[in-house]
Amino acid sequence: MTTGPKNILLTGSAGFVGSHLTERLLADGHTVIGVDNYISGQRANTALFTGHPNFKFIQADVSEGVPYKAAAFDGQTLDCVLHFASPASPPHYQQFPIETLMVGAQGTQNALELAHAHGATFLLASTSEVYGDPQVHPQPESYWGHVNPNGLRSCYDEAKRYAEAITFAYHRHHGVDTRVIRIFNTYGPRMRPDDGRVVTNLVMQALAGRPLTVYGDGQQTRSFQYVTDLVGGVVALMGLPESEVVHGPVNLGNPDEYTILEFAQVIRELIEPGLEIIHEPLPADDPRQRKPDISRARDLLGWAPGVDLRAGLTRTVESFRQQVLQA
Ligand code: NAD
Ligand code: UDP
Repeated sequence: MTTGPKNILLTGSAGFVGSHLTERLLADGHTVIGVDNYISGQRANTALFTGHPNFKFIQADVSEGVPYKAAAFDGQTLDCVLHFASPASPPHYQQFPIETLMVGAQGTQNALELAHAHGATFLLASTSEVYGDPQVHPQPESYWGHVNPNGLRSCYDEAKRYAEAITFAYHRHHGVDTRVIRIFNTYGPRMRPDDGRVVTNLVMQALAGRPLTVYGDGQQTRSFQYVTDLVGGVVALMGLPESEVVHGPVNLGNPDEYTILEFAQVIRELIEPGLEIIHEPLPADDPRQRKPDISRARDLLGWAPGVDLRAGLTRTVESFRQQVLQA
């Protein structure tokens, strides 16, 4: 990819990650055309950029097609298509299993077709969920995963595995310049407070002075990445000079691993040390352990996460506190 300002189409722009990516890309001088149907996103995330001269927004379901017509955008062809559209929180994707499968399948193909037509670079936001309930720990990109193909999480996991497969098919068969990132649990301001993920659940519970819900015995692990670290990784991967381009998947995550019980204790310490921790049933197929092997991102991109859990959570809690005060 050449240097200089780019014309970038971003699906899922009204989502949590999409909003941070939009912010960074605009700050770097690019033009961003956001596309979203708000199935799990927030209108407030679009409103943040409305009026910015380099931001445009199209409300559409990318599973039906990506209605980008260059003629309507001063004849501009696209340099990059970044495909981030998909419900991502387990309660959201389990509420919309068919839409989640569709956006991973048809949505990804529609975004790839657009990139192909424009000669644009394509990036797929894949996930650590392609490793399922992993039997290899930590997880390197070479691990093929351990996924239940018809369990409650399969609508998301298998959609993303298919999305990776079709991305590689477009690369091999059509020569599209593709990149794939596998994102590990990411958090930060602008997550939906009701998205049901562990970060938002526990922060909102603690701010309301309610007990913190830990599912199961809390010995399952996760590794939490602050959102600006993820955005830095995306920018580094998209910015690689042609001679160093990486088409294979790249893990982007923070390898600091916590049990969920430890995580709840950190939240409690940061917000209200006297709060009770209560246990609720562990959902089916909940991965027991998750930690990225980030050697590839370190070696190829010189990338590593820089925000530790307490620092990232402090910023996140502050933003949710403001939101609660304003409500
Ligand atoms: P999010 O739900 O906040 O954002 C996803 C956005 O995609 C939402 O705005 C939603 O409305 C939009 N969308 C979904 N289906 C669509 C469709 N058919 N057409 C148009 N828009 C659609 O989730 P997020 O946490 O910001 O995740 C963004 C991407 O990153 C997703 O692809 C997700 O799978 C991936 N990811 C995120 C994490 C994480 O921890 N946040 C981890 C792994 C992968
Ligand atoms: N979890 C929890 N309490 C909650 C929400 C989630 O203990 O209120 C657990 C969940 O069972 C999982 C982990 O926290 O083991 C991370 O869940 P999340 O939904 O954030 O993402 P996942 O990594 O499972 O996709």
